[in-house]
Amino acid sequence: MIQIDALPAFSDNYIWLLQDNASKRCAVVDPGDAAPVLAWLDDHPGWHLSDILVTHHHADHTGGVAQLKNLSGARVYGPASENIPARDVALDDGDEVTVLGLTFAVHAVAGHTLGHIAFYHADSQRPLLFSGDTLFAAGCGRLFEGTPQQMHHSLQRLATLPDATLVYCAHEYTLSNLRFAVAVEPDNPDVAARFEQVTQWREQDRISLPSNLALERKTNPFLRASQPSVKQKADERTGTDNASPVEVFAALRAWKDKF
Ligand code: ZN
Ligand code: FE
Repeated sequence: MIQIDALPAFSDNYIWLLQDNASKRCAVVDPGDAAPVLAWLDDHPGWHLSDILVTHHHADHTGGVAQLKNLSGARVYGPASENIPARDVALDDGDEVTVLGLTFAVHAVAGHTLGHIAFYHADSQRPLLFSGDTLFAAGCGRLFEGTPQQMHHSLQRLATLPDATLVYCAHEYTLSNLRFAVAVEPDNPDVAARFEQVTQWREQDRISLPSNLALERKTNPFLRASQPSVKQKADERTGTDNASPVEVFAALRAWKDKF
């Protein structure tokens, strides 16, 4: 069994740390800063960093990669079409990588950046998704490079993964995302309940992750563009008829950018 913990970085990033207790090998996802990983390794003598997974090129996800690779010799996996420091293995949609004995399928999820990838481990007990800055808990990443169409397509694809899929995204944005979700769906009881729960967790300084896909489908407005009430809110917002789910999605994303 691989244990997964969050190493906080910067103000709201998480570097996910995967640990194989049997071999004392570990892997990290999106180490924007080497320091938290090095501190963990210092506190855990005998452990070895063997692999580094990268979802996209932004500095808060790649800033620590080169230093960690230099110090540990870890193998660096990242998207083929982006500039990833010290990358060893260039990944495209449909590729598979095995890390600490877990096989991950690579999903191309353009939108936040054009080459963004997500890592999915299919498992009947505990499916895992490392979604970077694409699917957040109750939200999604900003469209820095891609179009609403691309992001909507990427999210729809992730939304087809099993209910039990644990979603490990790269930022603690859940509470502010839920504030927006409440504005979009004031009458959705699942959104209200989650907002209350995450408010409590954050007051206690507890992490709100991982999420899971069943919960995301019920509470994440960016996965709910096909819901009539969500379309209605988007139409009110834009003053137009957002005829397709992509248009609804685009209206939500533009609204959230200024929320
Ligand atoms: Zn990013
Ligand atoms: Fe980020």
